[in-house]
Amino acid sequence: MSLDLDRETMRRLGYRVTDLVAEHLASLREQPSYVTRSREEATRPLAIAPPELGTDFETIIGDLERDVIPYAAREPHPGFIAYVPSCPTFPAVLGDWIATGYNFFAGVWPVAAGPNAVELVVLDWFRRWLGMPDGANGLLTTGGSQATLTALIAARHEIVGERPELIARLTVYVTDQAHSSVIRAAWIAGLSREHVRVLPSDDQFQMDPAGLAAAIASDRASGLIPMAVVASAATTNTGAVDPLAALADVCAREHVWFHVDAAYGGFAILTDYGRREFTGIERADSVTLDPHKWLFVPFECGGLIVREPARLKAAFHIMPDYLQDVSGLEQVNFADYGEQLTRYSRALKVWVSVRYFGVAEIRKAIERGMELAAYFERLVRAEPRLEVMSPSRFGVVCFRIRPAGVDEPGELDELNERVLGEIVREGKYFISSTRLKGVYAMRICVLGFRTSEEEMEGVVAALRAHMSVL
Ligand SMILES: *Cc1c(COP(=O)(O)O)cnc(C)c1O
Repeated sequence: MSLDLDRETMRRLGYRVTDLVAEHLASLREQPSYVTRSREEATRPLAIAPPELGTDFETIIGDLERDVIPYAAREPHPGFIAYVPSCPTFPAVLGDWIATGYNFFAGVWPVAAGPNAVELVVLDWFRRWLGMPDGANGLLTTGGSQATLTALIAARHEIVGERPELIARLTVYVTDQAHSSVIRAAWIAGLSREHVRVLPSDDQFQMDPAGLAAAIASDRASGLIPMAVVASAATTNTGAVDPLAALADVCAREHVWFHVDAAYGGFAILTDYGRREFTGIERADSVTLDPHKWLFVPFECGGLIVREPARLKAAFHIMPDYLQDVSGLEQVNFADYGEQLTRYSRALKVWVSVRYFGVAEIRKAIERGMELAAYFERLVRAEPRLEVMSPSRFGVVCFRIRPAGVDEPGELDELNERVLGEIVREGKYFISSTRLKGVYAMRICVLGFRTSEEEMEGVVAALRAHMSVL
């Protein structure tokens, strides 16, 4: 059998997979939201030696259906309201398939001029939505983590350039609400762990601009070099937004790179609420976005927009001899903007989906997620044995059960953890937890476009059922 399949075989296999995925997505409501297996259980049926001979496609699909596909969370499930759900549209999935089917090489311009032009267009949409100046752009990345890392490397290069001895003196400023990926990015960028300044957030989980200014001044006084501030819009934990305009002022005054991590909430800027709450984001030096969250495209897709892309290129551009044919002034070689040389065209899934539905429909879906979270908050407030721990913001609500007579903090934490575990095991609703100022809280995050009032009411009913047998 040649690796070069004939047209009819390709069509047959392709239709088979289309049927499989369409059936899966259309029947999500009848499936559990989350099924898992231990490593031992999951590996046992799959552990075969590399097969010397080929296997019939139907057998492969059958094995996938029996031993692989069931044992996973259904991210696009209406009851998946844990962590940050990723709920891709079907056209976005097809856009991804086109990108891999054609196998465009989106690292340098000339070999994929068409797809690279699409990436520039998509990045320019993001720039406009953020309100950043003409000319700001960047690149699509594997996710938010890579976007933030790329930004911090650019910030570092600006200060350190060819003087690596300065790296030991660089500092970065975040709050205790910053996403873990920001701290990891700072470490990968070579900053010492003590130089990642984790400032305490206030009672609204926001960064305090005066506290930031004081920390920068004190670090400068002791000979350190403040490199970047990473603010959140919004936080994964509670949907809190740092005071972006005030932080932009501090950064401008102090000549510190202002990065905004908008991986979680960024695309809510398409709504009136988001636009208001994110005022000041347009002044950032760079912004992390995550289309695989609230722009409804499949993993993996992050995005970085940089106010002055030349600063990105200064940090990453290398021209080896074997790429001498691809340089050119008006071209954008995305490999010059980040760590990846070989990269696929993530832009296609975004472009196909946004064009298919239009921004108005996407805006509506984002608004609906936020409305459902607000509805959930009202349901929680109406139940005396439930307590809101952080109000609904950008689709996130934190809450806990608080049955009468249970007041000891350790006992409450334990009880909430147990009930959460039981609800998740039932498989209908997948919710997760966090800690707010040290206190255990359950957390829902409503991003998926299949989620409805039914799930909000169902979660509260499940909580009631569990509390009634305590
Ligand atoms: C999800 C998230 C990240 C990390 O993004 P990945 O796509 O998982 O790499 C960073 N920051 C925030 C606020 C996030 O919600």
